[in-house]
Amino acid sequence: MKAFRGILASVGIAIGKAYVLDHFHLGVVGHGIQNGQVKAEVDRFTAAVEAARKLMVEAANSNVKHLSNNLRDILNPHIQILDDPILIGQTIQVIEKELVNAEWALKQTYDKLAQRFEKIRDPYIKERAHDIEMVVNKVLRALLGKGEESLSGITEPVIVIAHDLTPFDTAQMSAKHVLGFVTEVGGKTSHTGIIASSLSIPAVVGVPKIAKAVNTGDHVILDAISGLVIVNPTDQQFRTYNRRRQQFLYIDRKLEREAVKEARTKDGVLVRLKANIESTQDIDVALTHGAEGIGLYRTEFLFVRGNQLPGEEEQFEDYKKVLKAIAPHDAVIRTLDLGGDKVPAYHDEEPEANPALGLRAIRYCLNYPAVFRTQLKAILRASHYGKMKVMYPMVSSIEELRRAKSIMEKIKREMDKEKIPYDPDLKVGMMIETPSAAMMARQFAPYVDFFSIGTNDLIQYLLAIDRGNQKVAHLYQPLHPAVIRLLWSVIQAANIQKVPVSVCGKMSADPYYAYLLLGMGEVADLSMDSHSIPKVKQFIRNVSVEEARQHVLKIMEFDLVRDIKKFLIKNVSPMMSEGMFSELTVEEPGVDL
Ligand code: PEP
Ligand code: MG
Repeated sequence: MKAFRGILASVGIAIGKAYVLDHFHLGVVGHGIQNGQVKAEVDRFTAAVEAARKLMVEAANSNVKHLSNNLRDILNPHIQILDDPILIGQTIQVIEKELVNAEWALKQTYDKLAQRFEKIRDPYIKERAHDIEMVVNKVLRALLGKGEESLSGITEPVIVIAHDLTPFDTAQMSAKHVLGFVTEVGGKTSHTGIIASSLSIPAVVGVPKIAKAVNTGDHVILDAISGLVIVNPTDQQFRTYNRRRQQFLYIDRKLEREAVKEARTKDGVLVRLKANIESTQDIDVALTHGAEGIGLYRTEFLFVRGNQLPGEEEQFEDYKKVLKAIAPHDAVIRTLDLGGDKVPAYHDEEPEANPALGLRAIRYCLNYPAVFRTQLKAILRASHYGKMKVMYPMVSSIEELRRAKSIMEKIKREMDKEKIPYDPDLKVGMMIETPSAAMMARQFAPYVDFFSIGTNDLIQYLLAIDRGNQKVAHLYQPLHPAVIRLLWSVIQAANIQKVPVSVCGKMSADPYYAYLLLGMGEVADLSMDSHSIPKVKQFIRNVSVEEARQHVLKIMEFDLVRDIKKFLIKNVSPMMSEGMFSELTVEEPGVDL
């Protein structure tokens, strides 16, 4: 038995066999060869190099329409690595001189190169080392006769263990076959975790070195309540966790049965709960879990999933489908939030040193007006078919918001001329997820119809903590007094300016944090992953908003996270029902680490 602790990204318990998705560690085994086999081994190696070249040339020439149409610019340097005299020449020399198999010779040569790169600090050179690793991986795959690894190929239920999963990998997961997943990197609100929550797949991230410590086929218990991964458990642990899993599912189902009922507080305040979705497929689950609308449609996943940019027609159909499925409720369609950790496979931008602070979301859209215009036109066309609101992500200045709005107005005028219908009263809002937007909520108010607070990013940017970095995950703290003060001031400013304010970050989904938000002023609705809705609804029925307001005033006097936590646990836990999960009260399991 081995146990590992990580960061909880999507709650639940999974028990099953491991499937180690090891993009880079292919389990190369070395063995000697005879003198007479050298030529055949070198031929095998050069054939593998050519097979890898063919794959990459095909990818570079594939009909990927992209913004600047230069996918080739990133793939060509990769293809050139296959002509590199050091990598290729030395591998052949190792085969010939050391009389070893080609896989081993390539690995030896690569390891030496990697060691040299390791010592160089220049980020550009480091990136080149990563390119070489990818190319070597492709040649090794060809030598070992292994195809490209992909989650879509999994056909039996497994717990996926990987160094990292891109949102693209996760989007390919089928909840039927992936019981849960564990990654070595990632933080509480990384986007891989967000997808896992929407698929209701338990996930623990930020578990160092786990991909090497586990073998495909090992038995795994994934305790995504305590953030624990137990490999090859004892019989006793197996029995305990089977029981805990049954209990978890039982409570979950019990809460679900109550979910369609409204959430009214003890003092009569009706709180609307909406769902965050990443695809049209999430809507059924949202409705069965009692969602009263879509508070956030993360449209970028439509862009991340495919292998090319979706066109206007595809987007129009997609947005229209959302509106029809959620009627008579409304849906907030958020414009593209690409960039950061959400990058499509066909993305051909130079990697950024700080992607979270880079060309992301509204900045990306304003930088690529053709992409933005296509999306806005599709959104406007769809708005004719249901109750829609549109929202811009990551706005950090009024200039940006005005530019976005003027692009939309121009499209409306064009559509008027072409007599294409759209909702003339379409409400336009913005996310409050940068500190500048939060501090200027009062000034932004006249430009928008509503605000939606994105606590995931707001915390990341306010506290300077990368939300996807496991090394600083312990500092990612929703209860930091600065976070509480800033949230309070945004909600107050919105109330004074009479601009409806919602919250769609992950804080909405935790009963303790939802309590705080409700105590900060009038919140139009809380939007969260569908699976959290029943729990938060039940919790809201147990509380009084008036009392929450008093508690928030008290909490604003504290300077330390520790004191705020203690206060909340003391005063709010009596309002929690059985099995109501909160990250604040995660129980320490009795597992010897
Ligand atoms: C947020 O930042 O809180 C948010 C809801 O947006 P996303 O998680 O997609 O960045
Ligand atoms: Mg965000």
